[in-house]
Amino acid sequence: MRGKTQVMGMVESTSNGREWRAAFVRAFALMLALALPLTPARAAEPARNPVPAEVTLIHEPPTNPAHQAIHARVLGDPTFEGARRFFASFRLKRPLVIRTRSCSGRGGAWYYEGAVTVCYEYLQNAVDNARSDRRPDWVSEEDAIRGQFADVLYHEGAHALIEFLGIPLFSREEDAADTMASFAILALFRQDAPALINGIVYSYLVDTGVKNFNELPSLESRTIASRQYGGAHSTPLQRLFNVVCLAAGSDPASYRALVSRSDMPAWRANGCEEEYKQVAHAVRTLLAPHLDRDALQRQFPGAVWPEVALR
Ligand SMILES: [Zn+2]
Repeated sequence: MRGKTQVMGMVESTSNGREWRAAFVRAFALMLALALPLTPARAAEPARNPVPAEVTLIHEPPTNPAHQAIHARVLGDPTFEGARRFFASFRLKRPLVIRTRSCSGRGGAWYYEGAVTVCYEYLQNAVDNARSDRRPDWVSEEDAIRGQFADVLYHEGAHALIEFLGIPLFSREEDAADTMASFAILALFRQDAPALINGIVYSYLVDTGVKNFNELPSLESRTIASRQYGGAHSTPLQRLFNVVCLAAGSDPASYRALVSRSDMPAWRANGCEEEYKQVAHAVRTLLAPHLDRDALQRQFPGAVWPEVALR
């Protein structure tokens, strides 16, 4: 656009007809000269000419017959394809694989060398916890499953983004992956996010050893294993309050009941909007430059991520 404006300026500045034609020829030649080099520069603009990341989703047939049901569930669960599309919205220099498989009884989920692995044992455990008759009323069975599925996929995928994009960190990578996962879920699933956040909160309560907030006081006389403080992750209860605070910071009205239910200390709750802004700043600075916003908008029409990242 800048080249065209300059050409029009030259044409408009001539008054004599011959000069005008000569100027027009010069202007046309200049326009070509300016336009041609501009073409490749425009082609390099990531938002207009996205280079989609190669992100592959593989649901391996289970080697354990007991995993047939969870395998069938995973095949029909859009949470996995949603995560694939999200990570494919980044301009990544390496392919990423998201794989579910049987892990010979060793449940869990991890990221390692370009691949996210989520074991059927881990996913089945999430389903079993969701079906517990001690599950509280504020989270549905389906949301408890979807929330934990989303959390593990976006958390492990965040490790891939950190590695692929060389994201600098001032603190533990596990905390950063938790935060990135929560932010992504809040941004991508605006209407659905409160239900998913309830599912994630429930999963951390289960990891803590209870099923509902009103059972937490019973844990206060119990000492957490000291080795857990030396781990790479925050404790389950810290992870729970982190996700509640980020959610409350993103939309105080929608998460007021959750903050109250969790009995979060007021001095923390009062700062949740600032915590959210801090994360949004990190997203804007560190992730947005690598995000193909057009691709993301196509995949998630209601997402607020681009607006947050750009404002
Ligand atoms: Zn992790």
